[in-house]
Amino acid sequence: MSIIVQKFGGTSVADSNKILAAARKAIRAQKEGHQVVMVVSAMGKNTDKLIALAREIHPEPPSREMDMLLSTGEQVSVALMAMAIQSLGYQAVSMTGAQIGIKTDNSFMKARIQSICTERIRQALDAGNIVIAAGFQGVDDQFNITTLGRGGSDTTAVALAAVLNAQSCEIYTDVDGVYTADPRVVPEARRVKQISYDEMLEMASLGAGVMHSRSIEFAKNFRVPVHVRASFSDEPGTMIVEEPESASRAVCGAAIAKDEVRISVRGVPDHPGAANQIFQPIANRRIAMDMIVQNVGTEGEAEISFTISAGELSATLKALEEVKRTTPDAFQTLTYDDNLSKVSIVGLGMEQQVGVAEKMFQVIADKGINIEMISTSEIKVSVLVNQAQALDALRTVHAAFELEKAPEEVRVSAPSAQISDTEKVQMINRLEHMEDLLIESIDLDEKQARVTLFDLPQTPGLAARIFKRVSDAGLVVDMIVQSSGDHQTNLTFTVLRECAEGSLELARQIAEKLGCTSPETCPPVAKISLSGTGMRSHTTIASRILKTLAEGNVNIDMINTSEVRFNIVVAAKDGEKALELLKKELHDVIAE
Ligand code: ADP
Ligand code: ASP
Ligand code: MG
Repeated sequence: MSIIVQKFGGTSVADSNKILAAARKAIRAQKEGHQVVMVVSAMGKNTDKLIALAREIHPEPPSREMDMLLSTGEQVSVALMAMAIQSLGYQAVSMTGAQIGIKTDNSFMKARIQSICTERIRQALDAGNIVIAAGFQGVDDQFNITTLGRGGSDTTAVALAAVLNAQSCEIYTDVDGVYTADPRVVPEARRVKQISYDEMLEMASLGAGVMHSRSIEFAKNFRVPVHVRASFSDEPGTMIVEEPESASRAVCGAAIAKDEVRISVRGVPDHPGAANQIFQPIANRRIAMDMIVQNVGTEGEAEISFTISAGELSATLKALEEVKRTTPDAFQTLTYDDNLSKVSIVGLGMEQQVGVAEKMFQVIADKGINIEMISTSEIKVSVLVNQAQALDALRTVHAAFELEKAPEEVRVSAPSAQISDTEKVQMINRLEHMEDLLIESIDLDEKQARVTLFDLPQTPGLAARIFKRVSDAGLVVDMIVQSSGDHQTNLTFTVLRECAEGSLELARQIAEKLGCTSPETCPPVAKISLSGTGMRSHTTIASRILKTLAEGNVNIDMINTSEVRFNIVVAAKDGEKALELLKKELHDVIAE
């Protein structure tokens, strides 16, 4: 018999009437002939209230006790939901994460699922029950209760759908699907009928809170069709699938991460390994760094900037204090700016970055908004702007790419095939733990050269002007990173090697016009791309990559990350060596 997993978020179980309405949806699915597993979140804002309560008692509550506390929210909901179903005359049984057998690692408050034992659920289903599973929680091998991180019930639901080989995973929430941007802040946003795993993964990771990004890693790895829909209506919602029907447009959506912090570390010795000393302790604490920019050193010293989400600031500062204490020469000064937001556009169709990125820079410039930092990847462009102007930037970008309009062409494609039970078992066996990362491929691109402009003036519209000239000159740009510190703005991008001479000439003209340092060379570089799923959120990968290259004495010129790719640019002479070192170091996570 086919299994359906239905997940109900906090607002969808906020009071007794809503709980009863959710119960009826599950009963309806059972009557249609499915076995039903429900995953429920804590009622309404219960998790927020528990966090506030903990903070009244302890300024930095110990994470083990936080998980003990927060897991109670879901326990209330599962019990009430089971009662609701029984009151309507049907059989139901509630289970906590531990009772289901959701084993996680021991990183409290952001635990990763290692395995799920389906025996108990299957027995309860076969006995005619609707099984109600507590979302967001698990248990480690010492029987400590763990939680998966805010929004983690989505991940419980998709993980259960994966191990049970469910026909689909329905996510019932307070919006009727996935929109081109958060419909609460961009009212003209449009609901999309279908979206690919990669695009949804990137959107979620860049701030589209409608789905927990790790749930999409599961969906992609185990090919689970996810259906996001409203708990308050029967609207069709959005299907998250491998290959959407609509022809890909360059940009499929825009997202905002409102509370971002940029950390800048100056006076870092300009030699391989120096950056690693700084990144390693941060990655070890499972803090995801984004928009990493290392400004090419002047006078033997480099400056490193990266962004983190505001919630990770205190842990990041602690990590850096520890670095300074143990290795006083690791860096000279540390500053941070916590008044920033990250605005991103996402789309698989962004093959030729420059047209898309340039347009984004231009429309933001036209609004007089300064771009503090830029990082591009194959599938997204992110910019960091002042918090006060961020919503304006998001709406502007949404309008500029006409995301409110439905795509014209519709490609008729066969529905993506589900993987068989045997394939799923193989997939689970391939991974030691369910949420382990798998790198699909490592590629070396030896066709590019790097252009760096130093000491640019900090004026709105700078990137837009530069990339207009670059595209007018017919140059195709691949990677772009820009960072403005208190002292300087540097901008680096890569072009095809055959265009190096022309690019250098153009860069010199731009430098002269702007009155800044003229670049001397446009050196050939090698780009190493590691493709996988969840490349940014699995922080240990960044840490292993950086450590390996540091130990191999390879200097990194540029880094950019997305959930599906981790790109590193090194000097051309180091390309082969870096590739070999990484293949060797990461052999355990590279798919055969
Ligand atoms: P739940 O409690 O059901 O898990 P969440 O609050 O976690 O619900 O997620 C739903 C919310 O996600 C919506 O209310 C909406 O404001 C927000 N959201 C952010 N980005 C998007 C988007 N691109 N599409 C739809 N909703 C979005
Ligand atoms: N209750 C948890 C939270 O609020 C998990 C979830 O709702 O997905 O983050
Ligand atoms: Mg949620």
